[in-house]
Amino acid sequence: MRYSSLHVHTVFCDGEDEIETYCRAAWERGFASLGFSAHAPIYAKTGILSDWHMREDRLAEYLEAVRDAARRWAGKLPVYLGLEADYIQDLTGPADPDYRDMGLDYIIGSVHYVFPPHGGEPFTVDGPKEDFDRDVRSRFHGDGEALMETYWDALERMIRAGGFDILGHMDLVKKNNQREEWFSLTGGPYRDRARSLAGLIAQSGIVTEVNTGGINRGKTRDAYPSREILAFLREKRVPVTLASDAHRVSDLDGHYDNACRTLREAGYTRTVLFEGKGTWAGERLSR
Ligand SMILES: [Zn+2]
Ligand SMILES: [Zn+2]
Repeated sequence: MRYSSLHVHTVFCDGEDEIETYCRAAWERGFASLGFSAHAPIYAKTGILSDWHMREDRLAEYLEAVRDAARRWAGKLPVYLGLEADYIQDLTGPADPDYRDMGLDYIIGSVHYVFPPHGGEPFTVDGPKEDFDRDVRSRFHGDGEALMETYWDALERMIRAGGFDILGHMDLVKKNNQREEWFSLTGGPYRDRARSLAGLIAQSGIVTEVNTGGINRGKTRDAYPSREILAFLREKRVPVTLASDAHRVSDLDGHYDNACRTLREAGYTRTVLFEGKGTWAGERLSR
């Protein structure tokens, strides 16, 4: 079974390694392809300061550096140019028109930020556990269920707005809730939302990634999305692709064996591999 990852972060945003280092590693490991997905800059659009998004003034350089790598590796390893675009309600999303002029091969649509119900700045569900716990207490008045619903609402709006090819880490909201201290991961409301979203995803025609980034960084026990959600996606025949969300080269195919096992348990027999703009090929699950 051939591997690939279209979800890779380099020194252009919050990753540790260079584009070339990843390309070499992917080629040595016999990858079918490799894609780069820097966190698209958000400051100009949202006013949100973060230390993990690419800066606006590095965007052109990034686009050129990945295209350059694609040229260098042509014939050995297909290298694709992508971005991980944030959806932050009313401020930015993968459907922003500026993404269309960048010559990207693909866009990953991700929700990291949610707005608290009583107004105020958005906050990320992807930050350190202490920050997350503090924010749920102060900004959601301790109502973890409300936070969970808000996250699914944002994901639903992003999918309806479209403009992207791959759904990033679908159930990221579970990351800082591993002991279900804020909301139940098996209860009715959570499952119902995930199941109805699976139907919406199927209609939208996007590919969902099976993202091992949480396991790679020791934050989650399983991939995004979890087996139960993968079973909902399988029911709706949503295509899935393996993604490592690597922030360093040693994680390039980290825990893919685990993800493949989970996929089989969820009823999947194949993943899909990207073959350039809007084109995917089936790949039989065999590990
Ligand atoms: Zn992400
Ligand atoms: Zn990412």
